[in-house]
Order: sequence, then structure tokens, then C-alpha cells
Amino acid sequence: MPDIDIKEILSTYDKKNLVIATVCSHSSLQIFNGARKEGFKTLGISVGERKKIYDAFPLGKPDEFLTVDSYTDIIKHSAELREKNVIVIPHGSFVEYLGAEKFLTLPLPTFGNRKVLLWESDRKKEKQWLKSAGITMPKQIKNPEDIDSPVIVKYHGAKGGKGFFIAKTYEEFLKRVEKNKPYFIQEFVLGTRYYLHYFYSPIQNNAYKLEKGSLQLLSMDRRDETTIDEVQRLGSIAELEELGIHPTFVVTGNIPIVMRESLLPKVFKMGEAVVERSIELFGGIIGSFCLETVVTEDLEFKVFEISARIVAGTNPYISGSPYSELIQLDLSTGRRIAQEIKYANKKNVLDKILS
Ligand code: AMP
Repeated sequence: MPDIDIKEILSTYDKKNLVIATVCSHSSLQIFNGARKEGFKTLGISVGERKKIYDAFPLGKPDEFLTVDSYTDIIKHSAELREKNVIVIPHGSFVEYLGAEKFLTLPLPTFGNRKVLLWESDRKKEKQWLKSAGITMPKQIKNPEDIDSPVIVKYHGAKGGKGFFIAKTYEEFLKRVEKNKPYFIQEFVLGTRYYLHYFYSPIQNNAYKLEKGSLQLLSMDRRDETTIDEVQRLGSIAELEELGIHPTFVVTGNIPIVMRESLLPKVFKMGEAVVERSIELFGGIIGSFCLETVVTEDLEFKVFEISARIVAGTNPYISGSPYSELIQLDLSTGRRIAQEIKYANKKNVLDKILS
């Protein structure tokens, strides 16, 4: 990973006029709205003409736009963005469309620890991190001939669950698999899905205490995925599969959810373990992250994925969630990010939360 000297860049910044910027998509309305609530100026990086939509949401509209033709053009504008004292908030679309490698070299102060990408985007390393933190993950099936219960087959780098499929037998797997694409087979965990939205601050001690800093649970959601989540309106999945209609896992939206309160201690234990291990492995996952879980009938969590930044599942909570309302009224993840930047700036420790 290239060494970007954040301290050096920050030393040229006018700290009284920091600007919060992100790419206009994903959770940008929430990020701009949250930054505005904390008194920051905002800048929207619009890839192509996306500006018009923001006129419809004045409280989520950035103060100014930078329009670029493509994601890679953002890098060309970094000097201009630095002159504006920009701090970038990465989100899923930003990182995915710019590409992890380019994102790592973006010469702009970005919220969070970019090193996490090296652990998150590589399935083997992700597993090593989570397993060594004591997290239970779905079983991996190395040899497709060993499929003897439902599995989910995931293609590497598939965007938004596209192309994933379920197989219950080796024969079904053979019928469906596209052999030329690298894939990964995982136990299909039966249970209910919870996408848990955490926030880890290495510099504040006002929440669930960790060795260093503290952890919050800001919200949780369930993703709405087409067609799997509604396909049963037409018939059972087994029936439909026989007719050659296969469910897909393409995310279209997010549904708010709360969990039975007795499970919260486990939620915090998992979050704690993931953070503590990340500190040992790469200096820590900073700010927002999400554990994507299935809760089984034995009330055990199986974590099938981690997202190391703000997830779109936080969008239902622009004016607070049933959890964040117990921390501070009207607190979204976007606002919490802005608060962290404001606090770090006040204490002169911005380099502890930016990379
Ligand atoms: P992912 O791209 O890994 O987030 O997976 C896309 C979707 O597939 C998830 O949101 C879940 O609905 C489903 N999914 C992924 N892994 C599993 C699993 N091991 N068991 C059951 N469902 C899963």
C-alpha cells in the first residue's frame, strides 16, 4: 500500500474550513445531511450529471458539486480538492467503482483506515481476520462434490449479489455453475438476516468500552433482495426452480429492523472482537462498519461478510434509529461520522481517524 502522508496533507489544510465530500450515490444524501447538521460545508463529487436529483432533497444537497466524467477522474482533481480542505467519506459505491487499488492511492484525507481494504477485499484474509477474532462464519465447501446440504455459490467480485445461486446437490451445482468464473461455495445458513451497523471510535470513550476507544451500535437493517425476497409470491422456490426460474440476490433497498434485546450482548461481543483483532492486524478498523449476519434457530450468529465503511442499510435512519435515539436524538451514521471529524479536529488528532 502506498504511503500517503496524511499529516503532511493536513498540515496544509485550513482546519476552520474543512469540507466533507463524497461521491453522489449510495449514502451521500445521509452523509451530506449529517455533515450539514454538524456545521460542515459539503461537496458532492458527481460522476456524470447526477445533480438534478439533489434539488429534490434540499437538506441532503451538498453546498457545491464537482462534476467528473468517470470515477478515475476524481484522482486528477485531488489537488483542487485539497485546496478546498476536503475530507473524503468513502462508501460502498465510491470504493467499488473507483476500484480498491486506486482508492488506496487517492491522495486525499479519507475517513477511516484504508488498510482495511487489503483485509476486506480478499476472501482468505477476511476469513483469517474474522475467524481469528472468534467469529462464526458459514462453512466453506472446497470441493463441490461434497455438497450435501443447501449452499450459496458466490462469484468473485460479483456486484450486489449478482449471479449468486443456491444449490442443494452437486448435480444442481453442475447445472448452474459458470465454470469459467472463479467462485466460492458457502453453506447456505438458514435463519434471519441482520446487518449490524457499528461505529468504532479510537479517540472517544463515551460508549461500550474497548481496550482503546469505544464502540456504538447505531442501527441495523435487512436488505431487500430481488428476486429471492418476493419470489414466493409466485410459488415455492423448489417449484419455480423446476420451471427454470432461479432466485437472484440483487440488492434493491433496505428495511429497518430491531433485534430481540437479549441478543445485544452477543452483538457487542462480536463487534468488540472484530475491532480488537483489526487493531492487531492492521492498526484498526475506524468509524462505521457492518457485520452481515444470519441468526440461526439456536440464536447463534453466523457472519457471512464484513463491510468496513458506511453501508446503504443505514439510509432508513437519517433522523435516527431505535438504537441511535438512545445515544443522541436525530443521530444518523452520516452525522456520527461528521461528529467524529469535528471532535478529532478540536482535539488536534485528525490523523488518528483519517488515512
Ligand atoms: P453478499 O454479497 O455476500 O453480501 O451476499 C448477498 C446476499 O446473499 C446476502 O445479502 C444474503 O441474502 C445472501 N447470503 C450470502 N451469504 C449467505 C449465506 N452463507 N447463507 C444464507 N444467505 C446468504
